[in-house]
Amino acid sequence: MKLASRLEKIKPSPTMVVDAKAKHLISQGVDITLLGLGEPDFGSAQVACDAGVEAIRTGLTKYTPPSGTDELKTAIVEKFKQENGLDYIKQEIIVSCGAKHTLYNISQVLFEEGDEVIVPAPYWVSYPDQILLAGAQPVFIETQEDDGFLMTPENLKKAITPRTKGIILNSPSNPTGAIYTRKHYEALAELLRSAPFWIISDEIYEKFLYDGAGHTSIAALDPALKEKTIVVNGVSKAYSMTGWRIGYAAGPKEIIQAMGMVQSQSTSNPSSISQKAAAAALKHGHPFVEGMVKEFEERRNLMVKGLNGIKGIHCPTPPGSFYVFPNVKGALGKKYAQWTIHSSLDLASFLLEEGGVATIPGEAFGAPGYLRISYASPREALIKGLQKIETALLKLT
Ligand SMILES: *Cc1c(COP(=O)(O)O)cnc(C)c1O
Repeated sequence: MKLASRLEKIKPSPTMVVDAKAKHLISQGVDITLLGLGEPDFGSAQVACDAGVEAIRTGLTKYTPPSGTDELKTAIVEKFKQENGLDYIKQEIIVSCGAKHTLYNISQVLFEEGDEVIVPAPYWVSYPDQILLAGAQPVFIETQEDDGFLMTPENLKKAITPRTKGIILNSPSNPTGAIYTRKHYEALAELLRSAPFWIISDEIYEKFLYDGAGHTSIAALDPALKEKTIVVNGVSKAYSMTGWRIGYAAGPKEIIQAMGMVQSQSTSNPSSISQKAAAAALKHGHPFVEGMVKEFEERRNLMVKGLNGIKGIHCPTPPGSFYVFPNVKGALGKKYAQWTIHSSLDLASFLLEEGGVATIPGEAFGAPGYLRISYASPREALIKGLQKIETALLKLT
């Protein structure tokens, strides 16, 4: 019997595929250093854990309103006001089962057959497939390493057509760590303000900023941009709460209501326990975030320095997120035993199987010639991973 034809358009998340393959090798006793998946190694923020336990003890284990509890929405409204300079009311907020789910619902309510959605590349792996699943077409803007992987107004202008229904922005970026500052956004703002399409701004890495950088939400530039922007965020990365599955969005009331309707007919509410924990994280989790980000900055420096010391690799210093995105074009075309490295995809397989280190090939993010390496792992693992990469690359001639 045949499955629905919409499935033919999409593929499993490539990052999860690499992770599964690496974990399979580990289960067979192979020594693999995992630098693939983007998940902080820290435990979840203690305030969140305590609130979660308390929620279970006090019987907060029943359905909540499908779009989230009043308490959590209030905490989110307050967060946007304090941290992003954005004023929303609770009716403009929805809580979902992770930011991935939030983004999925956005695609479902905004995009359909015949629509185009602009996605700057390198992009996060799920954007194209969620757009395709909604029946629309992703239109990629290839950004350049020399431009810091940021879109220029010229790039953007070329991608806009009468069919454009939206654009997905992601700053700080997964996979490149690039940041759009206020100045960068201002250069794009005129085009974005006048164009009749939605802006989806995925800001899940907003706390992961280094060298004193700050975060700007494009919605905070001016009211005209706020009106057409849906801001997406969540607690997975900042509070190391990936397993709790809480993401949220803020935006125009009609869109938020429509997302709530989809949610009421699909998942219903996100876990009541997790919502309690997320509210505590947003209210009291700042010291946790600060401590983690400080450690991540050290790790980033260690990785950039280590990678730039390896022949065949050139690694720019990313200002945000928790990935480095080294250029590995210098290692392409080389050989070892049965291996010929034609692409970064080949290189990632070689590094996994021959070198014992899991990374994600740039192909997964629409950027061949690069690898994404996560430094959300303990320093010992990073040092070991660097040594393994160096040893493996030395084998190639
Ligand atoms: C991790 C991630 C998400 C999704 O996070 P959730 O765990 O679903 O909240 C969304 N966008 C980007 C860019 C991510 O890296």
